[in-house]
Amino acid sequence: MNDFINLNVAAERLVKKLRDNGITDERVLDAFRKVPRHEFVDGAMFNQAYDDNALPIGFGQTISQPTVVALMTQLLKLQRDEKILEIGTGSGFQTAILSQFSRRVYTIERHKELGDASRKRLREMGYQNIVFKIGDGTAGWSQHAPFDKIIVTAGAPVVPQTLAEQLSNGGIMLIPTGDRQQQELLVYSKQSNVLKCESAGSVAFVPLIGTHGWKM
Ligand code: SAM
Repeated sequence: MNDFINLNVAAERLVKKLRDNGITDERVLDAFRKVPRHEFVDGAMFNQAYDDNALPIGFGQTISQPTVVALMTQLLKLQRDEKILEIGTGSGFQTAILSQFSRRVYTIERHKELGDASRKRLREMGYQNIVFKIGDGTAGWSQHAPFDKIIVTAGAPVVPQTLAEQLSNGGIMLIPTGDRQQQELLVYSKQSNVLKCESAGSVAFVPLIGTHGWKM
C-alpha cells in the first residue's frame, strides 16, 4: 500500500517536472500518470524510475529520459485513429505511451533480447494495439506503410529515404540526426509529397544501427 501511494506521488512529481520543462499537452501528462515507468526498468533501479533521467536497460541501450519521451510524444500531435511506426522499442516505455493515443503502434527493435522482453512485458500489462518486430528498423515496415506518424528513438547519421517514403501525406516524422554523441531532433512534416523540416533542439541518443544508419 505504501508503495502504491509513493508511486503515485513519484509519478505526480515527474509530471510536475515535465510541465516545468515545457510539456503542455495534458493528454501526454496524463499518459505519464497511467504508464508505470518502474515496470520498464531493472528492479535494482526502482528508486530512480521516476527521476527525469535516461537509465541503462542492458546491451549498451537506454530507456529514454522522460522529458524527451514526453516532448517527442507532444511533437507528434497524435490523433486516436492513427497508425504509428516506432523504430527502437528499447524497454517499451515510449511504445506504451504512444499506444494510449493511437489505433496501432508498429514497433521495431534490432536487439532480439530487448524486443522479446518488451513484447512480453507489454502483453502482460494488457496492451493490445502494439505489433512487434525484431529487425533493422532503418528499412521501415513496408507491409504496413504508409504511417501517419514515424518516431525514431535512436540517432541517425542521415534521414533514411525508406522512412521518408513510408510517411503518409499529412504525416509527421521525428528523427534525431547528427553524430554518434549528439543530434538535432528533426521534425519532418509531409504535405503533397513534399517534406518540410524543423529542428526541435539538441538531443543525445544511442546510435541507430542498420543498413540506412550507422554501420555498428
Ligand atoms: N524508446 C525506448 C524506451 O523508452 O525504452 C528507448 C530506445 S533506446 C534510446 C534506442 C533503441 O533503438 C535501442 O533499444 C536500440 O537497440 C534500438 N535500435 C538501434 N538501431 C536500431 C535499428 N536499426 N532498428 C531497430 N532498433 C534499433
